[in-house]
Amino acid sequence: MKRRVVIIGGGSGGAILANNLPLEDFEVTVVDRSPYHYYWPWLLYVAFRGSRRPMKREIRSLLKPGVNFIQSGAQSVDLNNRKVVLENGKTLDYDYLVVATGSRPTYGLIGGHEKAVEKYGDYHSTIENAERVWKTVNSLKQGTFAIVVGGDPYRCPPSPLEGVFLAEEFFRSRGLRDRVKVVFAVPYPRPYPAEPMNEVVEPLLKERGVEYITFFTLDRIEEDRKVAVSMEGEELKYDALVVVPPHVGTDMKISPEDVLTTDRFIQADKFTNNIKGFDDAFVIGDASAVPVAKTGVTAHLQAGVVARRLQGEDARNNGRTNCPFDLGYGLGTFVISDYNNPVVKLPPSRFSHLAKIAFAAAYWDMVRYPELWNPIFEAYFEATEPAKLSKIYV
Ligand SMILES: Cc1cc2nc3c(=O)[nH]c(=O)nc-3n(C[C@H](O)[C@H](O)[C@H](O)COP(=O)(O)OP(=O)(O)OC[C@H]3O[C@@H](n4cnc5c(N)ncnc54)[C@H](O)[C@@H]3O)c2cc1C
Repeated sequence: MKRRVVIIGGGSGGAILANNLPLEDFEVTVVDRSPYHYYWPWLLYVAFRGSRRPMKREIRSLLKPGVNFIQSGAQSVDLNNRKVVLENGKTLDYDYLVVATGSRPTYGLIGGHEKAVEKYGDYHSTIENAERVWKTVNSLKQGTFAIVVGGDPYRCPPSPLEGVFLAEEFFRSRGLRDRVKVVFAVPYPRPYPAEPMNEVVEPLLKERGVEYITFFTLDRIEEDRKVAVSMEGEELKYDALVVVPPHVGTDMKISPEDVLTTDRFIQADKFTNNIKGFDDAFVIGDASAVPVAKTGVTAHLQAGVVARRLQGEDARNNGRTNCPFDLGYGLGTFVISDYNNPVVKLPPSRFSHLAKIAFAAAYWDMVRYPELWNPIFEAYFEATEPAKLSKIYV
């Protein structure tokens, strides 16, 4: 008898996991509310480069033949009785469940946030909002362009600063840098939260004349006065404002409820990805509350571990992150760490930037053909282990 695996979410983690499971042993069903899988990192290039390159594909086309796909939202999960109720009225029973529902930007926590997104857009939610950012940067001919981190967590730790670097380059390329001030505000003590990476990026911000404000916890946006106000009462005056929205976890009802954190992320073992208290249920990627960055690479690595655990191996996550970081002007770096090693101070290089762009080009193939890409990934991850790199880059 094949074991029934239900995967809720056909994004980075869910699709990669589905394609990694041997179909002779498993009956695999992927459920997603959306017919499309989005390559979210490309929002940056829609927002700050006006890219029109397609960044979504049909989930069905990315799954191996033989993997079932149901296009429906999942409404609720009953972990004790192994049942998933779908928004289309159907109920699915499973032997193993994997939740891979990602995270969602939320707009209700900061006063005036919705109005600001409608006007200026953002680059963490939808293609339409990223296109609005592109319109915003194109129409700003003078004044202050501000990017503010609206709260934790959000997808991809480097992404707020990537937007800052790309915006700065954009205004310079248009000959507007002496007229447009670029300002970045964060709730942290430094522009990038992890100190070693901050040592890489803070000098670049200074060199390029980007102003930054630390300990700025965004409370509200007053569009009529064009100010962003922090909880400490500090005011940031802007002419155009893009906020990195805080994200929340799943919208599904989950029983028992105590597996959820207050912001609806799912608690799990950080090594095995088992949902707290359940041997037959896992959570991977952004939906989980495990203490790792919310990145596609993390989701990918966790999917690999869960695929191997389902096949009887004692595979474990080591908390590896490997997030490409666009620094503008054709430069890049990577945020690399694991549970035992802090972020490596990897200096800017053209190679890292090219690797980011090459990764984007190869992404769809990586999802669809893990059997071809897994060996390449494994070799890459071994060669770039943080313990090894931190001896080179001190
Ligand atoms: C601007 C930006 C830049 C980024 N840059 C990088 C980068 O350079 N490198 C990197 O590794 N990562 C990057 N990321 C992060 C990366 O995109 C995410 O971490 C990754 O997509 C997470 O994968 P996931 O499978 O957990 O969730 P997702 O890919 O978001 O997939 C979740 C899926 O679940 C579905 N879903 C949700 N709720 C339900 C429900 N109730 N029922 C059914 N289906 C549901 C959704 O429709 C979606 O298809 C970036 C993200 C952004 C926004």
